[in-house]
Amino acid sequence: MGRYTGPVCKLCRREGLKLFLKGDRCFTDKCSFERRPYPPGQHGHRRVKYSDYGIQLREKQKVRRMYGIMERQFRIYFYRADRMKGKTGDNLLSLLERRLDNVVYRLGFAVTRREARQLVGHGHFKVNGRKVDIPSYLVRKGDVIELKEKSRNIAKINENLDTIVRKGIPSWLELYREEYRGVVKDLPKREDILEPINEQLIVELYSK
Ligand code: SF4
Repeated sequence: MGRYTGPVCKLCRREGLKLFLKGDRCFTDKCSFERRPYPPGQHGHRRVKYSDYGIQLREKQKVRRMYGIMERQFRIYFYRADRMKGKTGDNLLSLLERRLDNVVYRLGFAVTRREARQLVGHGHFKVNGRKVDIPSYLVRKGDVIELKEKSRNIAKINENLDTIVRKGIPSWLELYREEYRGVVKDLPKREDILEPINEQLIVELYSK
């Protein structure tokens, strides 16, 4: 199955949570979830009582959709997290956060992870001085992520950066706005991820 290309607001309504997939629009009263905070479809208004499995599945889908990752790759992250030291759930979220597209988004070069993915895919970024156009590239502590000089006059990126300077970025990253550069000060920890995620449910789902 290919990547989801349908209306993203439906995903928020399905998961019962704002996933902030549309950038600025998500903060306006045009947000579909604010207008229709119930699942999409003919029977969306009906109250649904989820089984334990259903609750675990929805949590996994929510996180997958938040980071824009296909099922197969998500499972690979899970197995990798499971083999790492420490709690599997924490490791999973840390791996997702370390993706280059997510880092570009967190640093504020893009307003959504989808936009960040596109910018990375189009080769606008360098990591430690070398071009990297793989959105799933995992950053390490000390990595320097830099917008290529040729791309520094893109108005949308500048606008996004000015916005993030006002909003702030996570403490594990450092942004040098004037140099179009970000540094990974530390690896992300569980407490750095502020979105409402119950990763234990995902661990239970994949451990069946
Ligand atoms: Fe979700 Fe609202 Fe943003 Fe649409 S506008 S992606 S419903 S948060």
